[in-house]
Amino acid sequence: MNLNKLGQSLCTAARSQCGVELKHLNQAFKNTSRASSKMDDKFKLPARYGAGEKSVWVEYIQLAAEYKPKVNLGQGFPDYHAPHHVLKALSEIALSENPLLNQYTRGFGLPRLVQSLTKLYSPLVGQKIDPMNEILVTYGAYEALYAAILGHVDECDEVIVIEPFFDCYDFMIKAAGGEPRFIALAPKKTEGTITSADWVLDERELTSLFNERTKMIILNTPHNPIGKVFTKQELQLISDLCKKHNVLCLSDEVYEWMAYEPAQHIRIASLPGMWERTITVGSAGKAFSVTGWKTGWAYGPAALMKNLQVVHQNCVYTCCTPVQEAIARSMEYELARRDSPECYFKALARELMPKRDMLVDALKENGFNPTIPESGYFIVADWSKLATKIDLSQEPDKYKDYKFTKKFAKECGVLAIPPTAFYSAEHKHLGEDYVRFCFIKKDENLSLAGQLMSQWNIKKRK
Ligand code: PMP
Ligand code: GLN
Repeated sequence: MNLNKLGQSLCTAARSQCGVELKHLNQAFKNTSRASSKMDDKFKLPARYGAGEKSVWVEYIQLAAEYKPKVNLGQGFPDYHAPHHVLKALSEIALSENPLLNQYTRGFGLPRLVQSLTKLYSPLVGQKIDPMNEILVTYGAYEALYAAILGHVDECDEVIVIEPFFDCYDFMIKAAGGEPRFIALAPKKTEGTITSADWVLDERELTSLFNERTKMIILNTPHNPIGKVFTKQELQLISDLCKKHNVLCLSDEVYEWMAYEPAQHIRIASLPGMWERTITVGSAGKAFSVTGWKTGWAYGPAALMKNLQVVHQNCVYTCCTPVQEAIARSMEYELARRDSPECYFKALARELMPKRDMLVDALKENGFNPTIPESGYFIVADWSKLATKIDLSQEPDKYKDYKFTKKFAKECGVLAIPPTAFYSAEHKHLGEDYVRFCFIKKDENLSLAGQLMSQWNIKKRK
């Protein structure tokens, strides 16, 4: 028996063993619930969805409504308009003479949109992408991630997740019956000027996570919340491990157009031998600054995309037609000027960089130690030097960053996100000294945030 076959049979054995155990567990659960006549037991949340805690987004959107902070730097969305041509496209489509633009369209993506996505990405990944079989349009990047994970992860499969991670990855893996294996990015230093490039993975630890049960690794570059842009060398390591262990890479690249020079976003699908094992995720919400349009996509080789189509066709089946048409037109508009500095995919990073610098300065002046992001629109900042200025003893939350963000929003009027939401239970302590601020906001609001923070500091000195 060759090594490959041996690996496969071990894996099958592990899976069937796991299947047997799961069957026992299910039976045990059924017996228990039969014994109990309580309705609560019968209708409790299925175990694969965990304890059913509120996600940080659900909780903090509610908090924003309750606390009415003077500046909301929490959830990531712009507080100003998207490019005019994008908004104009949608407004025209709704009233268009073509009634079909307001009706169902092709399930896997409006033909005009998948065509424009092909034109955009084919040269970027060095692959002629088949618009009909290699692209799937989804309800935001969320659904693309969901279809990729549910469509590929099986019971007992392991999925490697890099911490901090966009919180839904963990949930989706478990919903698919898989097991997340976590590895944390760690800052090489904690004093002085820190940039997102200082946050790195331990090569030996990463290598040790790959084994015959590993089905997938989830990469997020550019990274939320750190703003890290994975380097060619880092991507090469991930790609070598994926090839060696026959593992898929799910690459979440929703911040692809927001890398700040000299950082350059590299698509892992463009590395040799990676196209065939990579599913890449994008978001129109991020690309065109219209997060409320909730339209995203996944692209990759047809053999992998088939599985995503199955999940999608039996879940939402098709996405909103007029929004897809507007994104297609917007994409065509940008493609026509893709070499010009005016192209939004280039202009966006230029527009965001001074906003980043403005917030970095305000944070530094007010006792935070921010990690300067090379990309995206978030800043993770260490607040531990402010600990003596804020009394968190009455805050009921378990983690310090939750206590801090809530108390700080109440006292200072600036709302931010607690990063422990982006860590597994066993690694939450790694995020407790940090807070995440979003800077895709009007300059006047960023400036107001700075003023509020210095007023808060002055009050604390008295
Ligand atoms: N991935 C990451 C890393 C994100 O930050 C987000 C939030 N926008 C998403 C996926 C989901 O994007 P969408 O709003 O398009 O569903
Ligand atoms: N991606 C955005 C963020 O990280 C929004 C997340 C969400 O709404 N679930 O803030």
